[in-house]
Amino acid sequence: MLEPLRSRVLRVAQACYHSDLMVSTAGNFSARDPETGLIAITPSNFPYDTMKVEDIVVVDADEKVVEGEHKPSTDTDVHCFVYRRRDDVHGIVHTHSPYANAFGAVGKPILPVLGTVQALVGGEVPVTPFLHFGTPEAQETMLKALENRRAVVLGGHGITCVSGAIELSHMIANFVEEGARVYFLALQIGDPKRVPTDVKRT
Ligand SMILES: [Zn+2]
Repeated sequence: MLEPLRSRVLRVAQACYHSDLMVSTAGNFSARDPETGLIAITPSNFPYDTMKVEDIVVVDADEKVVEGEHKPSTDTDVHCFVYRRRDDVHGIVHTHSPYANAFGAVGKPILPVLGTVQALVGGEVPVTPFLHFGTPEAQETMLKALENRRAVVLGGHGITCVSGAIELSHMIANFVEEGARVYFLALQIGDPKRVPTDVKRT
């Protein structure tokens, strides 16, 4: 079922793992099929390097497993919550990339000092306090931070990127990490300037 969609989720998950956006079994990835509304999501606590298409779990919008032998990601409730509330989102990438997480650790938003961050995220990358997921308040806090933004740093945890396609969310995750790294370096040598807010994606 939904093999092409599950393959896309697998490809992005493995690419993120191999580009050091997270370690071990951290992170989770999903994509929603626009036709059926079903969601393909990575399994819980499963090594990325040996993951296969059939290991990707299919759930419905209420988190019920439709197909798959494994337990879906422990963050399945968060993914499904976003899909239920955001019709425009069809791909979610959640990583634990270190430079972005460093800004989460100090509660400092990532200033868009590169055009890519401004264009892809829509402005500075917001940071939430640490969220104890499993509570409706935590999910609402994350969703609010994602208003007019396509990425958020969850304080003390990780980075969540949302968009109309999982490949685009993957691209956003990469540019957020690059932007965080450059912003961090710029802070060491001077006073970083944000790029103009009207920068568009080229
Ligand atoms: Zn996480």
